[in-house]
Amino acid sequence: MACVGCEIKEQVSRLDVDALVREQLSFEIDLAEEEVRDQRLNICDQCEHLNQHTCGKCGCFVRFRASLEKKSCPDRKW
Ligand code: SF4
Repeated sequence: MACVGCEIKEQVSRLDVDALVREQLSFEIDLAEEEVRDQRLNICDQCEHLNQHTCGKCGCFVRFRASLEKKSCPDRKW
């Protein structure tokens, strides 16, 4: 999705992902509390399975998965 060696492309990519996730979340009704989501994302940030914006275990955008109340980490980290 983005050139790993190019910071500018990475920033654009992050904006694209944020917009995509925001759009998808607008259809969801069962959202996690912001504090819960942020705690989950902090764990993802330290995880060896994180591949840029996606989880290497399940393939989800981590920002999307962590924002849904009933979802859990496929590696049982949250
Ligand atoms: S969802 Fe779990 S396995 Fe996937 S990146 Fe986050 S902490 Fe790692």
